[in-house]
Amino acid sequence: MARILVTGGAGYIGSHTTHYLLARGHDVQVLDDLSKGYAHNVPKGRLHVVNLHDSSSLDQLLAAHRFDAVVHFAAFIAVGESAREPERYFRNNAGGSLALLEAIERHGVRRLVFSSTAAVYGNPERVPIPESAPLLPVSPYGESKLMTETALKWLDACSGLRYVALRYFNACGAEAAFGIGEEHEPETHLIPLVFRAIRTGVPLTVFGGDYATPDGTCIRDYIHVSDLASAHLAALDSLLAGGASGVFNAGTGRGYSVLEVLRAAGEVTGKKVPFVMGPRREGDPAELVADSSKLRKTLGWAPQYDSLSAMVESAWGFENRRHGPAGT
Ligand code: UDP
Repeated sequence: MARILVTGGAGYIGSHTTHYLLARGHDVQVLDDLSKGYAHNVPKGRLHVVNLHDSSSLDQLLAAHRFDAVVHFAAFIAVGESAREPERYFRNNAGGSLALLEAIERHGVRRLVFSSTAAVYGNPERVPIPESAPLLPVSPYGESKLMTETALKWLDACSGLRYVALRYFNACGAEAAFGIGEEHEPETHLIPLVFRAIRTGVPLTVFGGDYATPDGTCIRDYIHVSDLASAHLAALDSLLAGGASGVFNAGTGRGYSVLEVLRAAGEVTGKKVPFVMGPRREGDPAELVADSSKLRKTLGWAPQYDSLSAMVESAWGFENRRHGPAGT
């Protein structure tokens, strides 16, 4: 059993990881300012509503719990919004991370798992993308995550912090046993928006049908949130056992186009997915697929979900728990 602080644990991926850490018998406390996350995602009695820039509250929390490690999710995640409000993204994501890193240094916490993103690669030269690919983000969001990765690299070299950064591809799905799922406000992600289109009949806009891909729509590597959570557990186990720092892609290594997602959703739900073809969304690379061999080999990770339909079905389960069965 270890004492773990999860920042951003009221959010989608953070809350799934929190539940898995608790199921493993760890003592978990969650820090979240609830600017995006939801208190109902956090098991009772574990939530501390604190912003990372509030250093005195952060100090109190760290002094009271003497954590063995931190899993750091707290961040804004909307690529489009980051282009409109870059200062806010740099202050919240990069600045918030630095404030956290300074605080844990003061309290002697020397292990951290960081939620990074495939957005650090920008428009990749080739897929699948290895971790050694050039890091050329095309949004303030991606840059803000890269800034934190850079800080972590130097803290590892200069002050002995040990960290694992996981570069997420497209998280989706939900764990029914925990009663939580993907809820963003506003929602920008494809799978929840497909369900919204099914429920409301208002067509989804497919962002671009003229990419250089087999069906003209963007290809992404969808990874189930429970598999992402298990990657965090594997990273933490490695760090707690004295393992070295490392950076890993977290994806399944299999890509699906937007139209393939729509088809899978139609099959899983048995309903027609209303959609229209629209223009490209700015900053969307044609294809993002992970080379996840490093994560598999080094940390012994393997995804439980390997089919798109199983992932879409899992997300559909949450949709129905949340809104009631569609069409009823
Ligand atoms: N997408 C789309 N219509 C939407 C939302 C998303 O066509 O209303 C596409 C988007 O262009 C991308 C894929 O779906 O190719 C996944 O987008 P999402 O926002 O879910 O994740 P991202 O790839 O931005 O991390």
